Amino acid sequence: MIYFDNSATTAVLPEAAETARRYMLEQYFNPAAAYGAAVRVERDIASARGTIAAELSADSSEIVFTSCGTESNNTALFGSLGAMHGRGRVIVSAVEHPSVYEAALVLREQGYDVQFAPVDETGKVQVSALEQLLTKDTRLVSVMHVNNESGAINDIGAIYALIKRRVPDCLLHVDGVQAFMKEPPVKCDLYSVSGHKLHAPKGVGALYIRRGVRIKPYLIGGGQESGMRSGTANAPGIMAFSAAVSDFSAHREEYLASMLAVKKRLYADLSSLRDVRLNGPDIGSAAPHILNMSFMGVRGEVLLNALSEKGLYVSTGSACAAHKRGKNRILNAMGIIGDRQDGAIRFSFSHCNTVEEADTAAQMIEEQLNILRRFKRR
Ligand code: PLP
Repeated sequence: MIYFDNSATTAVLPEAAETARRYMLEQYFNPAAAYGAAVRVERDIASARGTIAAELSADSSEIVFTSCGTESNNTALFGSLGAMHGRGRVIVSAVEHPSVYEAALVLREQGYDVQFAPVDETGKVQVSALEQLLTKDTRLVSVMHVNNESGAINDIGAIYALIKRRVPDCLLHVDGVQAFMKEPPVKCDLYSVSGHKLHAPKGVGALYIRRGVRIKPYLIGGGQESGMRSGTANAPGIMAFSAAVSDFSAHREEYLASMLAVKKRLYADLSSLRDVRLNGPDIGSAAPHILNMSFMGVRGEVLLNALSEKGLYVSTGSACAAHKRGKNRILNAMGIIGDRQDGAIRFSFSHCNTVEEADTAAQMIEEQLNILRRFKRR
């Protein structure tokens, strides 16, 4: 089996799984309880908070643990706006993950003036177009750090500087789910991350909330997470997330170089095939773990199914658009339409992949293309 769908989720790191096991079977105490064993779990969670905070150049007090990237994104949008008075403008990029995009549509129903910032043909938000949309009553801007389909990296530094210069009270939320640990930390007001994209188990994420930013909590109850998110802390998930982050941090250069090598090799192999196009930025200027290519003359989902039969797992991009012909919102926004959109496949890598896998995958793809294109011509 060759797994090239690491932007969907990753295999859990054995040390992270072992850590989770320990906090499920041995140190399973409620961290809010009063006895020593529970207090030690609480301290361990504080240390995990510090580990995540350090990777975001943040203070521990600015990190709230959540259940996933979706919850972090929803909390950032609904929570920050819920803490403000009145309505106003909200700008999100046209290529956001559904956990931001669909949330923005709900905000529109609630009376916010929601605007979508366009992207260029590589999937990057056009800062000048965003500037045109910024009005004095803009409350929140949400722009993802790395796009999950194209691998485009947004210029968050320029966007933050622009917002603070033009509308100082406006908040910038950044969905960092695909960028965390892979791109350097950025200055912003809210930043979402998710554990399972980084070899931690599913069910844990975090939200950076810059000191001074107010959030109306979503979950009300026992006041855990400094009152920002009630509910007994997911100690196994949080501790495993911290273990996975520590591992990535210790091997960062090696892991990033290895992902990029696999991506470059697959790109080189596939580029030698007929009628293949790259979607997104040049290989060198995109995130190291995402490669999106179109195979002209075949349907992406047909190729995906054929490849999965052979044991190669890839994706056609956004899960919500996978079954709707011509309706890939992200590629549409990049101006990639028709045959090129229909034939798009996303490959996403982790440090567990090898260049040999890239060669084998390219061979499988060539074989399947030969079959599918011949079939199509009849
Ligand atoms: N944001 C981006 C950019 C993503 O790629 C994903 C997951 O695919 C999410 C948010 C949602 O994360 P989670 O699956 O942890 O809810």
